[in-house]
Amino acid sequence: MKTANSPVTKSKDILSIKKIIVSGHENVVYCEDKDTGLKAIIAIHDTTLGPALGGTRMWNYSNKEDALNDVLRLSRGMTYKAAISGLKLGGGKAVIIGDSKTQKDKKLMCKFGQFVDSLNGRYITAEDVGMSTKDMEYVRSETKYVTGIPESMGGSGDPSPVTAYGVYMGMKAAAQFKWGNNNLKDKKILIQGVGHVGENLLMHLTNEGASVIINDINKEHLTNISKKYNAKIALDENIYDLDIDIYAPCALGATVNPDTLSRLKCDIIAGAANNQLADEDRDGKLCLDKGICYAPDFLINAGGLINVYSEINGYDRDHSIQQTREIYDTTLEILKKADNEGIPTNDAALKIAKQRISNKNK
Ligand code: NAD
Repeated sequence: MKTANSPVTKSKDILSIKKIIVSGHENVVYCEDKDTGLKAIIAIHDTTLGPALGGTRMWNYSNKEDALNDVLRLSRGMTYKAAISGLKLGGGKAVIIGDSKTQKDKKLMCKFGQFVDSLNGRYITAEDVGMSTKDMEYVRSETKYVTGIPESMGGSGDPSPVTAYGVYMGMKAAAQFKWGNNNLKDKKILIQGVGHVGENLLMHLTNEGASVIINDINKEHLTNISKKYNAKIALDENIYDLDIDIYAPCALGATVNPDTLSRLKCDIIAGAANNQLADEDRDGKLCLDKGICYAPDFLINAGGLINVYSEINGYDRDHSIQQTREIYDTTLEILKKADNEGIPTNDAALKIAKQRISNKNK
């Protein structure tokens, strides 16, 4: 990892920014502030289609290298998520190194906002893991290049309900493709992780009469959600062996891998988690070989991005929902394309996203 010092003079403070030289990304910077203890990396992957929009994740990475790997992978994903969703946005992401429960405060978030501002709008931030709308409010006090601020401030608020709606649309499109009918009534669906997105997805599926089984490492929360929606609970590691029609990963990435694919009996995988395939090439191909219809994560979980994008031009929730509904048609189109070409569904989606970026370059 090469670094080059380039302090930026701001009217308020002198910011210590080190450029990190990595190939494949337009700009990656390491931001450090001794007073607040802030250590962050902002990665701008590609701005061909527009400014790089992507959330800020605060995580207790064991070292800087792990944080860098994460931000590079996540920012690249944002480029393709925006492109496949037809948004005039590029891909970027930020990570703050530290424990969000004990090390995050107003001063730290304001300082982070100053670093975001120093990039002059080439990067626009939002919420991600370890962040709240309140934190975005602090960032907003230092820069206008932030989305996901509270609705009371004219922002779009929590993106999770819109993300869940998009996942639901993508799931229905996969059902249409796989079974010739998008009705999910009585379908056995496992949701892994009933947090912000998972719970909203559960609500849509319950309303449609699906038979939903839920799993979460937070047992108390799991019990409460189960009671609220009258959903069945699956408790242990054996969730991958259940007799189900659809697996919806809504917690962590990398749960679709050779081990789980050798056990899963479902026809469809469609969920909200980012980076569901542990290895994109290997596991996308394994899904194809097993006849499992995998609805690409970066396509069907784009509702949240669509929602924050709307905030840039003056938030319009109805328009966001309408645009998120279109995930149904896009998913169906991509599943058909993959089938016609005999390629994994994630490859088909990536091909279209890359095409959109290269068309803009011409
Ligand atoms: P969240 O933190 O609100 O919920 C995650 C839930 O998963 C929690 O209830 C947690 O207890 C549970 N969980 C964690 N590890 C688990 C495990 N090993 N097994 C079972 N359950 C586990 O997060 P969220 O906002 O609902 O996001 C869920 C996923 O969707 C994440 O991967 C996130 O990156 C992705 N995503 C979220 C959005 C959004 O708008 N929130 C948008 C795009 C993608």
